Amino acid sequence: MKYFDKNAWIYLDGRFVKADTAGIDLFSQSVHYGLSAIEGIRAYNTHNGTRLFKAEQHYDRLHRSCEEVGIDFQWDTDVLVDKTYELLDRNNLRSAYVRPLVTTGRNMYLTPAADASIVITAWEWGPFLGTDLIRTTLSPYRRPSPLSVPMAAKVAGQYISSILATTEATKRGFDEAILLDHDGYVAQASSNNLFIEKNAILYTPALGHIFPGITRQAVIELAGIFNISVVEKQLTTDELKAADSAFLTGTATGIVGISTVDDVKFPEEWSDTLGATIQRAYKNLTLEKENYEVII
Ligand code: PMP
Repeated sequence: MKYFDKNAWIYLDGRFVKADTAGIDLFSQSVHYGLSAIEGIRAYNTHNGTRLFKAEQHYDRLHRSCEEVGIDFQWDTDVLVDKTYELLDRNNLRSAYVRPLVTTGRNMYLTPAADASIVITAWEWGPFLGTDLIRTTLSPYRRPSPLSVPMAAKVAGQYISSILATTEATKRGFDEAILLDHDGYVAQASSNNLFIEKNAILYTPALGHIFPGITRQAVIELAGIFNISVVEKQLTTDELKAADSAFLTGTATGIVGISTVDDVKFPEEWSDTLGATIQRAYKNLTLEKENYEVII
């Protein structure tokens, strides 16, 4: 993946600067202890031009993530959205992934750092896990407990367990890992939320031990438009393995169907699943196709 070249711009604390001239303070608390907040936003090349999908929600979530871990957030969502459009324009990006990052200043103590800095980077983006169905495995790693780290905060340190889980799964030849929560219920994939379909009803792990994804919420809303029931509950591994079909959701990924979990193959043909219907509607929604709910 090429993230930038010598011509690329980034947005850094109110200014646009060349990506290859910017650096990070080696004494930043973020570097030493992983205390930083991130977002991931998609820009789509639509018939209305380049459009950020749910950008306000993402920047509001960045604000909340910072608040949850004591990082001072002094930026305005509308300004950040405007600057993100300008960043895409300067870099001539149409279909892109946007990564805002808030880091904290110099501090080797385990107390909040005095100052915070925001950087927004963006690069060309296609589907994250591809468009084919993926093969998953139950990970030996578990999601962090909500008693240890606020679940809704998208903070860098949380991703250590995700990296360990994905690395372990791919070493065993799978595309993605599914992690259980600390009580042993199915939680989510390393960086995606999970839905299963059983008897024409969608089920997804309830909030509490999962990251509350914006795509997950969009799927629940789309399901409502189609009169598809969605039940949010604790899911057991037996329920996962007995599902008719399953899929993952996330900003980078969009919606991707799962073919297998370990040695269990989901029986329903993907094109016949509720997930496939929602996948088509979600694509139309992100591309700002009019009447996206009927163009399926
Ligand atoms: N879980 C984790 C751990 C994530 O990092 C992400 C991506 N931000 C998701 C789920 C999906 O969230 P969203 O739909 O908001 O991208």
